[in-house]
Amino acid sequence: MTSSARPLLNRRLAEFGTTIFAEMSALALSTGAINLGQGFPDTDGPEEVREAAVRALRDGRGNQYPPGPGVPELRTAVAAHQLRRYGLSYDPDTEVLVTAGATEAIAASLLALVEPGDEVIAFEPYYDSYAACIAMAGGRRVPVTLRAHEDEGRFRLDLDELRDAVTDRTRLLLINTPHNPTGTVLTREELAAIAELAVERDLLVVTDEVYEHLVFDGAEHVPLATFPGMRERTVTISSSGKTFSFTGWKVGWVTGTQELVTAVRTAKQYLTYVSAGPFQYAIAEALSLPDSYFDGFRADLRRKRDLLGDGLRTAGFEVYQPRGTYFITTDITPFGEKDAHRFCRALPERCGVVAIPNSVFYDDPDAGRSQVRFAFCKRDDVLHEAAVRLRRLAP
Ligand code: PMP
Ligand code: GLN
Repeated sequence: MTSSARPLLNRRLAEFGTTIFAEMSALALSTGAINLGQGFPDTDGPEEVREAAVRALRDGRGNQYPPGPGVPELRTAVAAHQLRRYGLSYDPDTEVLVTAGATEAIAASLLALVEPGDEVIAFEPYYDSYAACIAMAGGRRVPVTLRAHEDEGRFRLDLDELRDAVTDRTRLLLINTPHNPTGTVLTREELAAIAELAVERDLLVVTDEVYEHLVFDGAEHVPLATFPGMRERTVTISSSGKTFSFTGWKVGWVTGTQELVTAVRTAKQYLTYVSAGPFQYAIAEALSLPDSYFDGFRADLRRKRDLLGDGLRTAGFEVYQPRGTYFITTDITPFGEKDAHRFCRALPERCGVVAIPNSVFYDDPDAGRSQVRFAFCKRDDVLHEAAVRLRRLAP
């Protein structure tokens, strides 16, 4: 115990308390409510992938420190995936880095590439670890707000606002598509404009593409690194958690040029050094699953999106139809409510469901005040039951 008046938590982290996901999952546990808050599936991924992990454990593969950049099998599988899906060619030995989930990839990228005082542009609502990692790196976050567009029924990027946000101190654009929490998938035109801006202003780009396989209704995920001039300035991040429904394994990765990956690895080696040995072998196998796995997973999720979306509309929410991720953002104004955080704290008591207030993902206190996010990566019977419960809210 210190007697000094100085706060224990340093200034960079002072504004960050418990994450909203931990807060809301704890609320789900203590109330027994259905947890549509934190984004994790309630069914594990493919049996053969689980078996691959068991085999690796039994065979003693990865039970001791794996190589710092990740096991060669996984680095090769990641490189093959980028080539097969997107035509992006990366050398598995020098241009791929395995991380402890996308979370560590984000932290290591920002800690490596941001100098104290540098400005980092990120969309708001933003995934919560972005703000914390920019702060840990000593950077300044500059939000650009995605706004719901009446005609398109989706959250859209204002390219002029993005251009205006760039200053001489801007170091990096932190992009996320498909976007958590809004479910927006940036279009080819939007991405091309971001790429042009990055090249014109000579900016680095870190792009979080963990929901790359979770796109619906013909939406196409296009990696930013595929645009002209982008390969050499882009760190691409993905993770096995969302694509293969093993969020607890925490296997993620980074792809980029040798220079970028070396920089990120320098930070990463002092964060965890390495992690998840046996799971790395299993995810190497998962990445080689046939297209039918990815197509089936997507079709299943799309159906779940519609199931929960219909339930939310029937219950009286305004629903923004997501074209990617496994989240639906809604607006609670039809209930005469304006404060999403208060609404979410009371929701378990009112109807036995837990959700996430998007308001905590904004710097602008007005921008997302009445937005609430629901996860649909749950069993059908759970989604049906949640829909029945939510009807109790009737405006
Ligand atoms: N980025 C985004 C946009 C996310 O939603 C998440 C949550 N899973 C992560 C990164 C973290 O991924 P991981 O669990 O692989 O660390
Ligand atoms: N990405 C998950 C979500 O958005 C949460 C992961 C976490 O709790 N850090 O719900």
